[in-house]
Amino acid sequence: LTVGVVAESRPGERRVAMVPKLVGRLAQRGLRVLVEPGAGAGAHLSDDAYTQAGAELGDAWGAPIVVKVNAPSPGEIAKLSRGTVLVGFLDPRGNPEGLAKLEEAGLRAFAMEAIPRISRAQAMDALSSQASIGGYRAVLLAAQKLPRFFPMLTTAAGTVPPAKVLVLGAGVAGLQALATAKRLGAQTTGYDVRPEVGEQVKSLGAQFLDLGIEAVGEGGYARELTPEEREEQQRRLTEAITRFDVVITTALVPGRKAPTLVTADAVKGMPAGSVVVDLAGESGGNCELTKPGEDVVEHDVTISSPLNLPAEMPSHASELYARNVTELLELLVTKEGALELNFEDEIVAGACVAGREGSAS
Ligand code: NAD
Repeated sequence: LTVGVVAESRPGERRVAMVPKLVGRLAQRGLRVLVEPGAGAGAHLSDDAYTQAGAELGDAWGAPIVVKVNAPSPGEIAKLSRGTVLVGFLDPRGNPEGLAKLEEAGLRAFAMEAIPRISRAQAMDALSSQASIGGYRAVLLAAQKLPRFFPMLTTAAGTVPPAKVLVLGAGVAGLQALATAKRLGAQTTGYDVRPEVGEQVKSLGAQFLDLGIEAVGEGGYARELTPEEREEQQRRLTEAITRFDVVITTALVPGRKAPTLVTADAVKGMPAGSVVVDLAGESGGNCELTKPGEDVVEHDVTISSPLNLPAEMPSHASELYARNVTELLELLVTKEGALELNFEDEIVAGACVAGREGSAS
């Protein structure tokens, strides 16, 4: 059974779905790895590195299993054969038309985002592995743009107080942002509507900003706030935000537009030169002034909304993603290397977003 590793076509994408390090592990499962020449180039992985690890080079689009990072374009879908098992970030909630196209093409599609977030599936959790990179890079970006130091410094030329960093949304990305900002010496504060993250925030040496609004919904995720709660939250946050030099926002509610946490008034109240990094740009943004994919300056505050931060750190992003993919493949393939889709398994059933009907097994 062959696993095809193809090049990504999304502008700016530098990740690849499989790395040489894991080729041997797939081989142990009886899987042959076929790599499209140049597929790993963006992640600094040469064709030679793949072949030395035991992979072959060739037309990977024709393989019975194709692993990708992003959803295929219509042109790419046309290169895949009916019945192909496709694995990638397929955006099942945000792009139902795309899913319909995969279904029409007769593909058996497994979305990394749709893998249930249960303990058994932790090693396949690509949302977490990539969000963690986003949180880390967001802090580096903020530090780069801030016209001040992050750490406290005592020098002959005077003492510099530490930067004050607020992270809104303390999920995977937010917690990594708090940890990174702390390592750079900032004074850190985290905020979330899920009260249980308070302890996690504090364990990272940050303060927890408690605004008295709790909103836990399905599956332990945050739920959307009621209009009254939202107004109250914005009012209290607007007041709190004026105390910070850096605000990093990561708040998402599954399947919804991202909540507005940083109003234009809040930006206006921040010290001149402050920085907002909005990681929720792809879902509309957490800041009222965000322009997804752009940097804007308003009231002498920079609001930055990078769209694909994991792609800017492609070596580790690819390595972690490839491990997530490998774990999933090991669930779809028997020890003897035969495809066996067991839809009784909640991970297999949850991840399969197209082509379930008519699957042979
Ligand atoms: P996410 O990316 O969907 O959201 C980021 C954060 O934003 C969350 O912490 C959320 O509570 C917060 N948020 C949403 N609306 C908000 C608002 N109005 N104000 C403030 N904060 C708001 O979340 P995520 O990082 O993907 O993960 C969070 C959830 O996933 C949790 O339930 C977590 O326990 C769970 N999880 C489970 C596993 C596992 O068991 N395998 C792994 C990772 C995450």
